[in-house]
Amino acid sequence: MTTIIPRATKIVATLGPATTELADITRVVAAGIDVARLNFSHGSAEDHRKRVAHLRSAMRTLGRTVGIMADLQGPKIRIGRFAGSKVLLKPAQAFTLCATNTLGDGAHVGLDYPQLIQDVSPGDVLLLDDGRITLDVVEVDDAQIMTTVRHGGVLSDNKGINRQGGGLSAPALTPKDMEDIKLAAELQVDFVAVSFPKSGADMRLARDLLHGAGSNALLIAKIERAEAIPALEDILHASDGAMVARGDMAVEVGDAAVPALQKRIIRLAREMNKLAITATQMMESMIHNPNPTRAEVSDVANAVLDGTDAVMLSAETASGKYPAETVAAMSRICVEAEKSAELTLDRDFLNRVFTRIDQSIAMAALFTAYHLKVKAIAALTQSGSTCLWMSRLNCGVPIYALTPETSTRYKLSMFRGVEPMMIGYDGADRDELQSRVERALMDCNAVRAGDMIVLTMGEAIGKTGATNTMKIIRVGEYSAP
Ligand code: PGA
Ligand code: MN
Repeated sequence: MTTIIPRATKIVATLGPATTELADITRVVAAGIDVARLNFSHGSAEDHRKRVAHLRSAMRTLGRTVGIMADLQGPKIRIGRFAGSKVLLKPAQAFTLCATNTLGDGAHVGLDYPQLIQDVSPGDVLLLDDGRITLDVVEVDDAQIMTTVRHGGVLSDNKGINRQGGGLSAPALTPKDMEDIKLAAELQVDFVAVSFPKSGADMRLARDLLHGAGSNALLIAKIERAEAIPALEDILHASDGAMVARGDMAVEVGDAAVPALQKRIIRLAREMNKLAITATQMMESMIHNPNPTRAEVSDVANAVLDGTDAVMLSAETASGKYPAETVAAMSRICVEAEKSAELTLDRDFLNRVFTRIDQSIAMAALFTAYHLKVKAIAALTQSGSTCLWMSRLNCGVPIYALTPETSTRYKLSMFRGVEPMMIGYDGADRDELQSRVERALMDCNAVRAGDMIVLTMGEAIGKTGATNTMKIIRVGEYSAP
């Protein structure tokens, strides 16, 4: 077995044209990705199937656990196409968005969501291509939106449109998303990200559809709409995690509001025992360059200090020139940031409220591990919840999650500070199980004989939610290694 990389923060990497072939996928897996993201806004079902097959083969070769996240396109409103695939818009010129789907030119373009016309009024500001182009709405009639270009530039086919301040009515799950949920279930992905949810109800609908398709994937709410901010708690209650989706969010709420929102979303997610992913443009310049900018290094490090479970790469690995180099750079930035004195045992530790026995054991294990300065926490877990609770607070001790459940092992790939490992229970009694745990940790060089560890387990071995025991062990003391 390979030595485990001592990095707590997880890396999510989007697979795309630059990461489709087995050799390219193998390189990013070897560089340390923890979760692969399939972006359902791009590519065919066949492309995604091929990437998943290659990813699973790379994992087997390298002996690594990489979860898979399907990211639904959602109701991203887009312009249609241009006769020459792009046009140049000049400041102060007139430009019309129309309901018809004819090919566009320098004066007009179609819309893939004609209802947009009912949602906007004169005075509104429309942002195209993640805010690169700004249009002022001058007049609206039944069939078109007349605008004046404020900030121009090159506009190409199918770019997204947002309204400043949010408030567009498109439902969170489109017919395409409903089809894609079936594809996500077929591919047995571990996480499904829902784009543009505005309420907990949107997430519950996604969960119902997902269950209907036979998937138990964890559900991630992409926070990227102005309306999602006041609804954060409601959305998080209905989700397993949140993604700080800074691309669309910056367009909707203004870029300057994003850093504080990032901190708030991560803090709230952790308090509510949910996952947090920080996404978009983290290593943007590495799409073209072999090294990140100073600002990007700080951005990744600050997300780690904010307590994010995972940092995410989009175009950097999907279509960039240096996918593996980007992952390696991100990894070393995380590792260094995790050493910072800014990260100590969370201060609100004693204020946590819990009533469940398994949750109490998780908290006791953290507290003990922190004060006894043990080498590792080993948690025998069926559903993964013991590890979720432990990983919501930072205690600086790595958590090794040992599970007999394949689906749990892959879900744990997103949890900060948790290293998923497989263990067979098959009739083992408690003593036998304990020595299996010790052997597994020694085999991956996580601990050596004589190291102290904290072990949590249930007396009813293999039962979900039955964790009721915490044990402090010196590795190799009672069991033959
Ligand atoms: P996207 O989501 O890349 O699917 O748009 C992330 C974001 O908006 O930041
Ligand atoms: Mn987005």
